[in-house]
Amino acid sequence: MIITHTFNPSIDITYNVEQLQLGNVHRPVQTIKNAGGKGLNVSKVLLQLGADLKAHTYLGGENGQWIERQLNEIGIPTIATHIKGSTRQCIAINDGSKQTEILEQGPEISQDEQHDYLDNFQKNHNHIDVMAISGSTPALQGNTSKNHVKSILENSSDSYNILDIRASELIDILETKAPVHCIKPNEEEFKTLVNESSLSDKKIYNSLKAHTLFNDLDVFVTLGDKGAIVKLKDKIYKAEIPEITAENSVGSGDATVAGIAFGMEKFYNENEKIIRLALSCGMSNATQKETGHINPEQAQEFANKIKVELL
Ligand code: ATP
Repeated sequence: MIITHTFNPSIDITYNVEQLQLGNVHRPVQTIKNAGGKGLNVSKVLLQLGADLKAHTYLGGENGQWIERQLNEIGIPTIATHIKGSTRQCIAINDGSKQTEILEQGPEISQDEQHDYLDNFQKNHNHIDVMAISGSTPALQGNTSKNHVKSILENSSDSYNILDIRASELIDILETKAPVHCIKPNEEEFKTLVNESSLSDKKIYNSLKAHTLFNDLDVFVTLGDKGAIVKLKDKIYKAEIPEITAENSVGSGDATVAGIAFGMEKFYNENEKIIRLALSCGMSNATQKETGHINPEQAQEFANKIKVELL
C-alpha cells in the first residue's frame, strides 16, 4: 500500500491564448482544467503504474467537490478530509512562448480539521509500505507546517517515507529527526540544501557523501534533461538519460516520486531498477501535454535506455 498526501490541492486551469498582453481581454483558444497539487500528480502516476494506493487530502467548497468527483472518475482511491474553506485554483496562462502563473494560497485549515485529517490517516490503514508527502502546506490555525508534517511522519514510522517539499521546510523537518527516508530535490532545491550557488557532478557527489543532512537518507537529485545523481542505500549513482523530445516537463518531479515509491515497494533491493523506473516516469511525463501523466510502455522503453553508473 502506498499513501500520498496533498495538503494544498488545487484546480489547475490552463488557458492557452494567442498572445498574452497585460491590460487586454483574452479569449482562450483552449481551456484545460485538472485536479492538481503535487501529491495528486504523484497519485495519478501511481495509478497508471498499477499501484495499490490511497490519496489523502484536504478538500473544501465547490472546488473541493469538483476535485473529489474528478478523482473518483479517474479512479484514485481518495480519503478527503472536508474543510470549511474553499480549495484553491491555480491558473496558468500559456501563449506558446511563455507561461504566466497565478497561484492562490489555499484556505486556512482549522485545528479541528487538522485533527480530523490525522484521525482519518490513523484509522484508515493497517499497513503502509511507502508514504509520499509532496508540495506546500496551507496556513494552519494554531500550528506550523513543520509540526503538521512531523505528526504525519511520526504516525507512519514503519513505512518508507518520501518527502518532496520546499528546501527550506525540508531542512526544518530533517532537523527534527522525524522518520524521513528519501528526498527528491531538483537542482535549485539541492543548491539551497547545501548552500551553494552553483553545482557540478563532483560537488553533488561530495555533498551527498559528506553533508550530515543526508546521513541515512536516500536522495534523488534530479537534474531535468540531464538525468540525476542518486544516493541510494549508501551508494552513489549517476543516471544519464537518453535525449527525448519534451512537450511539458511540469510535474516530472512528481512522476519521479511516483516511480521511486512504486520501485521501493516492488523491488526494494534492486537499486538500479528503482533509479531507472523513477527517471523513466519523469521522462515520460515530460513527453505528455498533461501534468502527472505517463505512458507506462513508453516509460519502460526509456528505462531500458537509461545508463546507471556507480560513482
Ligand atoms: P517538477 O517540479 O516540475 O515536478 P522537478 O524540477 O522536481 O519537476 P526535474 O529535475 O525537472 O524535476 O525532473 C525530474 C526527472 O524527470 C529528471 O530526472 C528526468 O528523468 C525527467 N525529466 C525532466 N525534464 C525532462 C526533459 N526536459 N527531458 C527528459 N527528461 C526530463
